[in-house]
Amino acid sequence: MIVAAGSGVRAGGTVPKQFAVVAGRPMLVHAVAALQAHPAITDMIVIVASDQVTLAREVLADLNDVVTIVIGGTTRRDSVANGLVHLNDADRVLIHDAARPFVPASVIGAVVDALSTCDAAIPVMAVVDTLARGESEDGATWLGDVVPRDALYRVQTPQGFRVGPLRAAHAAWPGDEEATDDGQMVRRLGGRVAFVQGDPMLDKVTHSDDFAAAEARAPRETRTAMGFDVHRLETGEELWLGGIRIPHDKGLSGHSDADVALHALTDALLGTIAAGDIGTHFPPSDPQWKGADSAQFLQHAARLIADKGGRIGFVDLTIMCEAPKIGPHRGAMTARIAELLHLTPDRVSIKATTTERLGFTGRGEGIAAQAVATITVPTSSSGAQG
Ligand code: MG
Repeated sequence: MIVAAGSGVRAGGTVPKQFAVVAGRPMLVHAVAALQAHPAITDMIVIVASDQVTLAREVLADLNDVVTIVIGGTTRRDSVANGLVHLNDADRVLIHDAARPFVPASVIGAVVDALSTCDAAIPVMAVVDTLARGESEDGATWLGDVVPRDALYRVQTPQGFRVGPLRAAHAAWPGDEEATDDGQMVRRLGGRVAFVQGDPMLDKVTHSDDFAAAEARAPRETRTAMGFDVHRLETGEELWLGGIRIPHDKGLSGHSDADVALHALTDALLGTIAAGDIGTHFPPSDPQWKGADSAQFLQHAARLIADKGGRIGFVDLTIMCEAPKIGPHRGAMTARIAELLHLTPDRVSIKATTTERLGFTGRGEGIAAQAVATITVPTSSSGAQG
């Protein structure tokens, strides 16, 4: 059960915090995907405010068949109570806050395991910093007494419960009193709540500064993909190669400017996010790409990667031809590609080879190019990491 009914809006944002994008996806979607990917989780309930149902269905479109969306109440406790109605015959439930987008599989497993011997289990982190009270005087705050930290823990979610004791706690709770969380409710009713090891990944995203921190700790995976392209050399054409114009007696022919190196590189980048190939995005049958500057194809691929929260780490290009000589142009090509991809030049490798006068490249009939791109991208399921 994911509680996502809050109305707090990220500073400068327009949607409630749980729908704000971190690492390429709304926080709620990260949490749903991580929990859904864990084998111990069989059903999911997402609790949202009544005016968030449409938005929730929209962002969870890929997960709608595994998620039941339930409308929350005015307090967190009311929201959980509404969710409890939809539990059917489940005997164990995990309750999670959508403001903790990254849920390690290890924590889910530890909470679920603990429920075989306890009514409830919650992930906690020992407090490691020295804690001190602040004392107000003369309009400022000054150092006060140290608060012993050895018995203090930071409480996280997902919190796990046997459904019976949780329902009993909700039924018996005084209607006029708010509860910090369900763990406290079960404890008040005499239940024992076990501690399991929490994880810094689960830190809550509350203030606007927390978004940058969450972005930085998002679980990322490395992807590498290849691209390959060939174009024919013909007289009467300009030679565009690696994003620059090279004086030569022949040029590459094709529908666009036929920059074979940028095309191979574009395909490698598209490959890292499994987004098809250059022809998928810029069909040669479409007249608008006639004579087009291939730089825009490369930039389009880079934009698609950025939209997924991806970061290009390195690109490597091999150009195969007898002529022209690539060496004298390598610096200009490197600078242009680095500029187009917003990379430092040490992340752009350009190599060239002849094919020993063999084949179409050896006979000077065409130029071939091969590219490899490496990126990192937020893992599509942060639960899959562990
Ligand atoms: Mg091409």
